[in-house]
Amino acid sequence: MTEPIIALSHIRREFRNGDTVVAALEDVTLDIHRGELVAIIGSSGSGKSTLLNILGCLDHQTSGTYGVAGTDVAALDADALAALRREHFGFIFQRYHLLSELSALENVEIPAVYAGETSSARQTRAKRLLARLGMAERRGHRPNQLSGGQQQRVSIARALMNGAEVVLADEPTGALDRRSGEEVLKILAELHREGKTVIIVTHDPEVAHRADRIIELRDGLVVSDKRTDTAVTTAAPSLPAARPAAKPSRWSGFAFRFRETLRMALLSMAAHRLRSFLTMLGIIIGIAAVSSVVALGNASQKKVLSDISNLGTNTIEVFPGKDFGDARAGKIKTLVLDDARALDRQTFIAGVTPTVSTSTTVRYRDRESNMLVNGVDRSYFQVKGTKLAAGALFDADAVRNIERQAVIDDNTRRTFFSDDQNAGIGRVIWIGKVPCRVVGVIAQQQGGFGSSQNLSVYLPYTTVQAQFTGDRSLRSVLLRVSDEVSTDLAQEAVTTLLTRRHNTKDFAILNTDDIRRTITSTTQTLAFLVAAIAVISLVVGGIGVMNIMLVSVSERIGEIGVRMAVGARRSDILQQFLVEATLISSLGGIAGILIAVALGTLLNLLLPGFQVSYSTFSIGAAFLTSTAIGIFFGYFPARRAASLDPVVALSRE
Ligand code: ADP
Ligand code: MG
Repeated sequence: MTEPIIALSHIRREFRNGDTVVAALEDVTLDIHRGELVAIIGSSGSGKSTLLNILGCLDHQTSGTYGVAGTDVAALDADALAALRREHFGFIFQRYHLLSELSALENVEIPAVYAGETSSARQTRAKRLLARLGMAERRGHRPNQLSGGQQQRVSIARALMNGAEVVLADEPTGALDRRSGEEVLKILAELHREGKTVIIVTHDPEVAHRADRIIELRDGLVVSDKRTDTAVTTAAPSLPAARPAAKPSRWSGFAFRFRETLRMALLSMAAHRLRSFLTMLGIIIGIAAVSSVVALGNASQKKVLSDISNLGTNTIEVFPGKDFGDARAGKIKTLVLDDARALDRQTFIAGVTPTVSTSTTVRYRDRESNMLVNGVDRSYFQVKGTKLAAGALFDADAVRNIERQAVIDDNTRRTFFSDDQNAGIGRVIWIGKVPCRVVGVIAQQQGGFGSSQNLSVYLPYTTVQAQFTGDRSLRSVLLRVSDEVSTDLAQEAVTTLLTRRHNTKDFAILNTDDIRRTITSTTQTLAFLVAAIAVISLVVGGIGVMNIMLVSVSERIGEIGVRMAVGARRSDILQQFLVEATLISSLGGIAGILIAVALGTLLNLLLPGFQVSYSTFSIGAAFLTSTAIGIFFGYFPARRAASLDPVVALSRE
C-alpha cells in the first residue's frame, strides 16, 4: 500500500480546566489513505471534533506525532500550517461558518484570496463550483438570504475552492433537515468518487453507513475501526476544481490580498457606520482643531507683523519712567526737549520727533468731545506712515512759529464734520480754550495696529507745550535710525547717551524690532501650547480607535477563526485589522482637514484683510499624522487578532 496521507501515532490532547486536566483524546493511532471515505462516530463528548481539529491543523496535540503526506506537523510554523490548511484541507462545519457581510460567491472566493489568486480566476472557478452544487442562481445572496442546506452547499464550495485533497466535515448534516442533509451527503459521496479523501464526523449511524470505513471513538479512544461491505475504494483521478498550475508572484499575490483587505475593511466600516463615525469623530475633531489653530496662528502673526511694518522700520521710541506702564509716567517730567535735540545731533539718528500729549475737551459749534491732543513734529507722520485724506499737514514753520494748526483723525472728522463737504478743512475748532484751524485730515489706517475708537487731534508740539502743558517735558521721543545702523546698536547708544544726561536710567525704550520679536515669540509659544493640546486630543482620538478595534476584534473572533481555517496567515489577519484602523483614522483625518479648510474659507470671507491659508505641507502633515495614529493605535488590537489560536477563535462562533 502507498504512504498514508494522514498518519496519527499515539495522539493525546489534554485540556486544562482550572486544576483538572481533561484528556479529550487519550491515545489515538490511525492511518488514513488517499481516496478513503471515513466516518468518525461516537457519542457527544467522545473527542470527535478534537480529533478533526487536529487532523485539519487547527489544533495541536499535547503529545504523539501527526504526519501529513510524510511531513511531521510539529515541525511546521504558523504560516506553514496556514498554507497546509489553505492548500490541502477543506473544512465543512456544522454551522456553515459563512461570513455574513459577503455574498455566497465572495464567501467561496476567500480561500483563493489568501492563495493570492487574481480576481477573475477566482470568480470563474467559484462560479463554476457554485453552479455544480446547484447554487448558480443564488451566488449573489447573503448567507441570511439562504436556507441551511444552501448555506452548507456554499461552505462545501468554499472547502473545494483551492482544490483540497482532504475534505473534513464536522457534523455537516447536523443542522439540516432530512432532505437537505441527504443532498449534502450525496455531494460528499460524489467528491469521494472523484478521488478526494473525505472525513466526516457524525453521530448519526445512517450517515456513517455511507462510508467505506467507520472509526468509533469513546472517551478519547478508538474503540472500533472497520470497513463496511459497501466499501468502494476507487481513486478516480479527475479533480474538476483543481488549483491553477501557475502561482502568482509574491508581490502580485500580496497586492491582490491587500486590495481584498481594503475592500473587507470598507465593508466592515459600512456594516458599522455609526460606530465607525463616532470613532472617527475623535480624529476629525483633533485634526480639524490642529490644522485650524496652526493656520489661524500663522494668519494672525502675519497680520500683526504687517501692521507693525506700517509703523515704519528702524524706529525707536523713548518714554519717561523706569518701565512701561509706570503709573506716574504722565507726571514724570524728566524727558525734555533738550534730550531730543541732543539725540538729533547723533549721526546714527536720521530723524527725531518729540511728542507731547494732553487730554482735553474739543468743541465745534454745538458739538463737543473729550480728545487726545498730540503735540508732534512734522516728521511724526512720516515715521508713522500716516496718509492724508484731505488738506495738508502742518509745515516746519508752523512748529517753529507755534501756530495753532490742527490735523484731525478720521474719527474726529466724522464726529464734527460729518455734514461738511470740505471735511472740516479751514474750520476753527476749540481745543480747550484755544481756537485752532483744521488744516488736514488723516486717512483711517487699514485696521492699523493701535487703531481705536479714540478721537485724536494733532498740533505742533510747540503749540501744545505753550498752550496746554506749559513746560518743556515730553511724552516721548520718536527716533528714526539711519538705515546703515542696526536698531539694537542704536538703542544701546541712545541708552548710554540719555543715562549720561540724566545720571540715571529713568526712561524706557520701545523699538519695533523688539515688538516684532516679542510677537513672534509669543505666537510661537502659543502655537507650541496649542500643539501640545492638539497632540493630547489626537492621542485621545487614537485611544478611541484602539478601543473600538479591540471591540471589533472580540466581536469578530468567529470570523477570524473561519479565515484562519480557510488558510489566512497571521499576517493576513494583522493586515486586515491594521488596514481597518488606519482607514478609519485617515478618513477621519481627511474629514478634519476639509472642516478646517471650510472654517478658514469662512473666516476669510467674514474678516477681510485676514488671510487664513493652508499649505500643502500642513495638509500633508495632518493626513500623515492621522494615518500614523491609525497604524500606531491599530497595531495592538490587530496583533491580538492575529495571535489568536484558530481553534479557540472558531469555537467562539
Ligand atoms: P465531540 O465533538 O465528540 O462531541 P469534543 O471533541 O468536542 O467532543 O470534546 C471532547 C471532550 O473534550 C469533551 O469532554 C469536552 O468537554 C472537552 N473539550 C473540548 N474542547 C475543550 C476545550 N477547549 N477546553 C476544555 N475542554 C474541552
Ligand atoms: Mg463535536
